[in-house]
Amino acid sequence: MSQPGVMDTTVKERAGLALNDDFLRKAVKFTTERLRNGKKSASEEHGNWDEWRERGRQIRLHTIAHLDYYLNEFVNNARANGVHIHFADTSVEAAAIALDIAAHKQASTVVKSKSMVSEEVHLNHVLESAGIEAIETDLGEYIIQLAGEAPSHIVIPAIHKNRYQIAELLSKEAGEILEPDTTVLAGFVRKKLREKFLEADIGMTGCNFAIAETGSMVLFENEGNARMVSTVPKTQITLMGMERIIPSWTDLEVMATLLPRSATGQKLTMYMSGITGPRRTADADGPDEMHIIIVDNGRSLQLGDPEFQELLNCIRCGACLNACPVYRHIGGHAYGGTYSGPIGAVLTPALNGNIDEWNDIAGASSLCGACYEACPVKIPLHDMLVYLRRRKVEDGHGNKMESMGMKGFAAVVSNSKRFSAAIRLGQIGQKAVVRNNGISLKLGPLKGWNNYRVAPSLAKKSFRQQWNKLDQELNQEQPAMDSSVRSRMEQIIREREEGGY
Ligand code: SF4
Repeated sequence: MSQPGVMDTTVKERAGLALNDDFLRKAVKFTTERLRNGKKSASEEHGNWDEWRERGRQIRLHTIAHLDYYLNEFVNNARANGVHIHFADTSVEAAAIALDIAAHKQASTVVKSKSMVSEEVHLNHVLESAGIEAIETDLGEYIIQLAGEAPSHIVIPAIHKNRYQIAELLSKEAGEILEPDTTVLAGFVRKKLREKFLEADIGMTGCNFAIAETGSMVLFENEGNARMVSTVPKTQITLMGMERIIPSWTDLEVMATLLPRSATGQKLTMYMSGITGPRRTADADGPDEMHIIIVDNGRSLQLGDPEFQELLNCIRCGACLNACPVYRHIGGHAYGGTYSGPIGAVLTPALNGNIDEWNDIAGASSLCGACYEACPVKIPLHDMLVYLRRRKVEDGHGNKMESMGMKGFAAVVSNSKRFSAAIRLGQIGQKAVVRNNGISLKLGPLKGWNNYRVAPSLAKKSFRQQWNKLDQELNQEQPAMDSSVRSRMEQIIREREEGGY
């Protein structure tokens, strides 16, 4: 489930490349900022956002706790609707099933709408190796397909590219120079893809939610391409992670409130399609044949695992990526897996079942908890990241210098006198290197940090020093206050006695 070639490099090396790419940093920062602000306004406007988050969490907890029941219900209802259901234990199996269906249909062209499961399966590569043209029709996915890259965000796959880079890519495809103007670029892609929708033999989609009570699947999108993919070609294949189930349409109301707001700050996406089986006689459009491939690919490893089961609650909104200070600096490719950001840092090792191989990505986090705050279904990603780090140390993969440093830090902060002495020493020692309230020295542990920012200096007076001073002042003032209160009370008593009370 890694991007090609990433296992030869470390997260640190990949992050270093990203940090030195100014275009990438600016593009990622600009878009994550917009998405984050959009989500903030949408959730504030909603009013009781936290209550709905809790509802979403409860629906996901309940569904995953009874996944076998709801999966069975979904499969029975979908089959009754005329859908062919296939189960794939691994990514290889999922790709083989899709390929087999394509071979039966003698397909030469497949149009795809956005699907992270198809990225897990590396389906484009598999189809193309078999001589089948696979065309991504989501604008962002189309751009990265032309660039030969993997998505760097769950929702905005080409988040790391600016319009000039996109214009260059699309100009090559067009065979003429296209202006870096969003209307021109989107217009070119729209025209190009329209022909592909009409000539494709198979349409492939992902699945945002699968409704157990009716055997339906639901897609959220903004471009209308998923609707084209699922209605124009004669055969439709849907790739669905086995955890996409929710019990009922009533539960979808909660999810439809949480997902678009968290993903893009929209109250609802432009299109929300509910698909219940292939075209029936009275239907004007839709595929004649519909297949759903239900993919495990490591998900059942999380079932019953006390540390990771809640990962199955994820609704792939991407809000944790937009909130993460690390993701916002390095983008998605540095994480190395199909999924990036805080969810990717945990999901990648959990899906692989090979924590050791991926143990360094848990370090790509400040553990600030912003991911948890952003998550519409309250997945405690920060706790899972701490668990992964602990596992790394317990398994003997810890960094010896870091471990010694942590022990020293613990010895200092757990003793009040040592801590105060260390602060005083630091305040004196930093005088030689502080400039404009910051330390820009690129030495020792400060080197990595100061390559891209300036470390804050210690305050001239620490909180503890200011607190102690305030405490002393209050203690000195206390007797004066007491005597004034006492004299006022004596005066009141005197007045009362004189008044004859
Ligand atoms: S972990 Fe939460 S915030 Fe992150 S993608 Fe999943 S649902 Fe969204």
